[in-house]
Amino acid sequence: MTSVSRRPRRLRVCPECELVVGLPRLRPGEGAECPRCRHTLVRRVPDSVQQVLAYASAALLMLLFALPFTFASFEIQGVQQQIAVAETASMLFYDSELLLALVVVLAILVFPALFLAGVSFIYMKIAFREVNAWHRSLARLVMRLHPWMMADVFLIGVLVSMSKVASMADIAFGPSFWAFCIFVGLLLKTVTSIDSDRLWFALAGEPSLPAHLQAGVNAGEQGITGCELCTFPIPAAGQDKCPRCGEHTRLPATATLERTWALLLTGAVLYVPAMVLPIMNTVSFGATTPQTIIGGILHLAETGSLPIAVIIFVASIVIPIAKLLALGWLCWVARRAQTLKPGIQIRLYRITHFIGRWSMIDVFVVAILAALIQAGVLMSVSPGPGILPFAAVVIITMIAAMQFDARLLWMAEKQSTATAEQG
Ligand SMILES: [Zn+2]
Ligand SMILES: [Zn+2]
Repeated sequence: MTSVSRRPRRLRVCPECELVVGLPRLRPGEGAECPRCRHTLVRRVPDSVQQVLAYASAALLMLLFALPFTFASFEIQGVQQQIAVAETASMLFYDSELLLALVVVLAILVFPALFLAGVSFIYMKIAFREVNAWHRSLARLVMRLHPWMMADVFLIGVLVSMSKVASMADIAFGPSFWAFCIFVGLLLKTVTSIDSDRLWFALAGEPSLPAHLQAGVNAGEQGITGCELCTFPIPAAGQDKCPRCGEHTRLPATATLERTWALLLTGAVLYVPAMVLPIMNTVSFGATTPQTIIGGILHLAETGSLPIAVIIFVASIVIPIAKLLALGWLCWVARRAQTLKPGIQIRLYRITHFIGRWSMIDVFVVAILAALIQAGVLMSVSPGPGILPFAAVVIITMIAAMQFDARLLWMAEKQSTATAEQG
């Protein structure tokens, strides 16, 4: 990371602490971070346009290859079942789990496909220098899809599902599985190849900055706010859209904490049925056994799959509870003048933001098993009533983490400094 002390060429507002920062001249491979909260403001990716185009088009191609062939197959006492990747969603649809089917198909196929197609199209236009205002709107939409793509989480779900039934039946992967693995790798490469600062520059240039803007000073104190998407400085009053990317401006306001609280409360309430009700029902040689999340973890541990049991325990129990508690605590401290430096809180906020999606593993495990394990009375799996509230907890807490405004933590710090100075 490059320090920001070199002569600033362009000013940005840190989206996590509202400090106005002058961006240094960056060479390919270098990055710039906020000197106050260490948030990465820019990462200069070498040959970003070519890289994104190559990875995104290859990823789209792999996704197409992953669709038609066998994804996984299952055999028990001569009864065979094969599924394609999309059947993990369509079988839920037949089990009358419409919402869950929608979540699965959007997270693993539709959103990644739209993201890749959108990114390819935008970068193609950038490469041919044919950009217009419509491409800017499309770029905003595409960037918003990013946290909701969960193909990588799904892949871990596949491995967990396989280890759950490997001892009872023969499981094999088909060509679509391997294509899907390559697709996930290429999708991740596409995401890391995007240089968002360059992207917005290519789409909208560098509009003129508000007058008298000073680096190293809080934006709020200068009557400025930062765009949450492209970090461009915008006058806090009289301008409701970013002149660079067109995103609606959001001023840091403690009122938003109420919304986060409401989401957290809903998540906490739904977590009870998610834990108490069975997430899936297993029929084995005619006998039906309902299984809760905790029951599933204990079963895995007893049957010798201890590492998998630990993964599910962390993803389904530790992460959701830790997230509810951490966000609740952050909402509480953001309202108060505090003596603690916000460093620890901001780190906690970033972790909460980053890990939330991994709780979806169990949802995908149920989707995969319910699609694949269909051998009538010999062995079959169907989703239980607990899986929908569980998926809702994961999604609601993800939205709560996005709603939470980290800038409030730094405002709380300022208040406490002011109170101390007055005293
Ligand atoms: Zn910062
Ligand atoms: Zn913007």
